[in-house]
Amino acid sequence: MNSEAVSPLLVRKYNQPVPRYTSYPTVPYWKESLDVAEWKEVFRQQFHEENHTNGISLYIHLPFCESLCTYCGCNKKITTNHSVEEEYLRAIDKEWKLYRRLMRQTPVIRELHLGGGTPTFFSPLNLKRLLDSILKDSIVHPQHQFSIEGHPNNTTPAHLKVLFEAGFRRISYGVQDLDPEVQRVINRIQPLERVQVATANARAAGFTSVNFDLIYGLPLQTLSSIENTIRSVIELRPERIAFYSYAHVPWTSKAQRLFNESHLPSAEEKISLYLKGKELLLEAGYEDIGMDHFALPVDELSRARKEGRRHRNFMGYTTQATGLLLGLGVSSISDAGIAFAQNAKTLHDYYEDISNGILPIRKGYILNEEDRSFRRYILDIACKGQTSFRSEDLDLLRELVFPGLAPLEADGFLRFDETGLELTPAGHYFIRNCCAPFDLHKLRDEAGGKKFSQAI
Ligand code: SF4
Repeated sequence: MNSEAVSPLLVRKYNQPVPRYTSYPTVPYWKESLDVAEWKEVFRQQFHEENHTNGISLYIHLPFCESLCTYCGCNKKITTNHSVEEEYLRAIDKEWKLYRRLMRQTPVIRELHLGGGTPTFFSPLNLKRLLDSILKDSIVHPQHQFSIEGHPNNTTPAHLKVLFEAGFRRISYGVQDLDPEVQRVINRIQPLERVQVATANARAAGFTSVNFDLIYGLPLQTLSSIENTIRSVIELRPERIAFYSYAHVPWTSKAQRLFNESHLPSAEEKISLYLKGKELLLEAGYEDIGMDHFALPVDELSRARKEGRRHRNFMGYTTQATGLLLGLGVSSISDAGIAFAQNAKTLHDYYEDISNGILPIRKGYILNEEDRSFRRYILDIACKGQTSFRSEDLDLLRELVFPGLAPLEADGFLRFDETGLELTPAGHYFIRNCCAPFDLHKLRDEAGGKKFSQAI
């Protein structure tokens, strides 16, 4: 589809606040007081079922950054004081031991992701200590996939060596935009040369998958600045490119209040930026993996899409092969298939719970049968572009969902009947809007006061 094929009228019509559906129910509908005993029981059971068949996934949140990128919506702590590393690692180690007590077998680690924040804020020696403490009493799955988010400005060959030796083969660099003026306004100065060196270092260390994150919709971005950025990065042949829409949520992200909102592109301009980027990526041999991800055909995500193995979680699209994701660290989210749990969002609360020897969970949700069914519809649409309906759900679907699908069908985004739904090529630009009619929590939210970023 080219830029003319997406009507500006439809872009305006559907540019409503809509969740990204990295979970269902979405985080605003989770309970503030998850019963920790209930979560432990769900975790124990899911661990027991998954560990000996698929293994488990681990996400470790490393929240520190040396400087604030003004577009950032992540949970981070800005500091240049590196003595914070020690205390944080001690807390992660204690949290891991609390979970180890719930595991009756040696954990089989299949997936491990270090995210942030800036994981490479930590010294190579400290990253090694962290990984040693987790892996020394675990079994590493033979088909393990270990990955890290690296900052091009501070990922050193020493970091890469430690990570490679621990089994990491994928690194994602936050590139975002290479235009100097855009970098100045987002306070993230990293010239192309830095990205080139970081990429070359990762390849030299033995990493087989280098991924870049880019953002469209940032202040001062133009069609020509996006074109320059994309043309420069594809020269480096990263295996994957996540081309994210900037989420403007100044009510939750104070740094975004620093933007002059008149510098932000309009919804129509944003979709033009996306379409220009997409056109260049497809021309360069990348495949559209869905929503905001592109990958070379050799990449695991490309293969997973063709084989229907794609999954969507808090990290976006993944090839997650396990049914248990354990999140460690401040603000981390765990997903046990039928339940979510999120850790305390401030370091103070996180440390306090850990020092009291209790799991630092502050929020979560146990899914009922209806949630599980509607979660599957949303995941299917986001990951496969189609879904089939259970006859047991038909009354609910007719009453609450089909009325929301009808206008989307009329606008040419999908086709549906009482057996299921399929997106059209145009619908792939509006996936969030096409998932939203299945979000029963949002539909029933009488107050309607929850806020999400715009769909485009
Ligand atoms: S974008 Fe990344 S590096 Fe920048 S402040 Fe946020 S977490 Fe830190």
